[in-house]
Amino acid sequence: TDIEELLLSRIRDVADYPEPGVMFKDITPLLADPAAFTALTDALAEIVERTGATKIVGLEARGFILGAPVAVRAGVGFIPVRKAGKLPGATLRQSYDLEYGSAQIEVHAEDLSAQDRVLVIDDVLATGGTAEASLQLIRRAGAQVAGVAVLMELAFLDGRSRLAPALDGAPLEAL
Ligand code: IMP
Repeated sequence: TDIEELLLSRIRDVADYPEPGVMFKDITPLLADPAAFTALTDALAEIVERTGATKIVGLEARGFILGAPVAVRAGVGFIPVRKAGKLPGATLRQSYDLEYGSAQIEVHAEDLSAQDRVLVIDDVLATGGTAEASLQLIRRAGAQVAGVAVLMELAFLDGRSRLAPALDGAPLEAL
């Protein structure tokens, strides 16, 4: 579609970043283009409506940039999921495996309850580890999963398969 082409045209491929052999997808040109950023925000807000989400979880850090305007546009709350040690209040913490070692993410426990239907937003789905851990946090908090929405899915890494059990039938939307 026209929107897909517009969004794709504003994503920059950076070779060998952050390490040799990796082709990094850089969304800063898209953020700097108001037509593209607005089109992306509108498309994500449409997913909020379609999935009946009542809250957005944004994943640090680019999920904050994308998720916050979508929350305002859709009229739902925004909840940051952060790398461990950044949130001041009582948190739930989830570990997940990286290629080498592991990482931890956290959410404020009081931000999620059984009434919430949560859509997770991020820029890129790569291995799916980060999104999977965020879904585990949402479920541990007793909230419902409305789905995961990303700008880009790196299909060759098959994060979609890794995410499937945690999604449990909820949609993964990649624009
Ligand atoms: P995953 O956990 O392997 O799916 O990695 C996803 C996380 O890493 C997301 O929070 C992304 O923002 C980030 N990420 C991985 N690859 C890229 C990339 O090529 N561009 C931008 N972010 C990336």
